Amino acid sequence: MTDAKMKDLHTGVIHGGQQRDPLYGGVSVPIYQSSTFAFKSAEQGAARFAGEEEGYIYTRLGNPTIKALEDNIAYLEKGYGAMATSSGMSALSTLLMAFLEKDTHLICTDAVYGMSRNIVETVMARFGVTYDFVDTSHIENIKKTIRPETRLLIVETPANPTMVLTDIEACSRLAKEHGITHVVDNTFASPILQNPLEMGADIVYHSVTKFINGHSDVVGGIIVAGTKELYDRTKRVLSLMGGTMDPNQAWLVLRGAKTLAMRVERSQETAARLARYLESHPKVAWVNYPGLESHPQYELARKQMFGFGSMLCFGLKGGYESGKKMINALKLCTLAVSLGGIESLIQHPASMTHAKVPKEAKIKAGITDDLIRLSVGCEGFEDLKADLELGIKAAE
Ligand SMILES: *Cc1c(COP(=O)(O)O)cnc(C)c1O
Repeated sequence: MTDAKMKDLHTGVIHGGQQRDPLYGGVSVPIYQSSTFAFKSAEQGAARFAGEEEGYIYTRLGNPTIKALEDNIAYLEKGYGAMATSSGMSALSTLLMAFLEKDTHLICTDAVYGMSRNIVETVMARFGVTYDFVDTSHIENIKKTIRPETRLLIVETPANPTMVLTDIEACSRLAKEHGITHVVDNTFASPILQNPLEMGADIVYHSVTKFINGHSDVVGGIIVAGTKELYDRTKRVLSLMGGTMDPNQAWLVLRGAKTLAMRVERSQETAARLARYLESHPKVAWVNYPGLESHPQYELARKQMFGFGSMLCFGLKGGYESGKKMINALKLCTLAVSLGGIESLIQHPASMTHAKVPKEAKIKAGITDDLIRLSVGCEGFEDLKADLELGIKAAE
């Protein structure tokens, strides 16, 4: 990780896009827990609805506390504007509704968040949308699947849970050539470690439930658009679909985001040490972490990420039977789905987050039965290492 970038972002997470409370000077953004906003006159109400005057109307359409979070994340992602949503899935479903229609086609990374795949296969399919899930780490796979009616390319990198990377810049170039909107799920990297819009992507979205909020206590999402045109198109659909965030939720996420750079810096340093520890362990069959030289896309990680993050996955030599014993023996790492919190979380994707992905599709996407996913938190390295050691011993 380059120091200059981090120094800048430690300031950016706290002050980026923020304005002082104009009423009383509150240092923390006030929670505007109001569903609606009074107009001074009929003329003002009409002007706000006509978009001739700036100001708030109704919280589904916009709210000052939510705007503070949106401006902060838009700043960190270097986008035109952001839209906070009730969950990460709400961010994705809004984008699917904004950019797809009957007889259009979507291409998406095969190793994605399980429910991101599920919504396409079970909901969007009902509306006549066609799709291909491909291994986007090889650009030829995308080229081969592009059709005249392809409208959207959704890439998740690093991918969940395999930690496979996709070249964002190469995807953007290809998408532009074919007039396809290129969307990146940037949840795993967070805006601290990867800025897809700077590499040519059109739109970024996050499950802020994960790193951005960072305390395993809020579900939320956010979309960041690279241009006004993309922002307006998405915002219209979000306002109509109604998947907006709540002011209280926004305030909590904004509070969490202030320590995002510190948390990412701390946890990825520990993750790198744990990855090396696991890789050298005789009972561990394999480890996938973008910061290991053994990761097939180590060079790409260095090129497009500012750091390697705190997510990793591994398999034990005894397969999932050993993995299960290990998970059950851990005392410090919590057995739970989700990720990016201050506490370390461990889970088994094949039977948990990706249980609904068809078996053949799972194998094709590299989600093997022995794969264990670890989200490294902010605890101390020695304590986490001792916990993993305890688990691996119990698996013998
Ligand atoms: C969790 C997650 C989502 C879904 O977000 P929710 O906030 O749970 O709705 C989407 N993509 C990735 C990569 C995730 O980890």
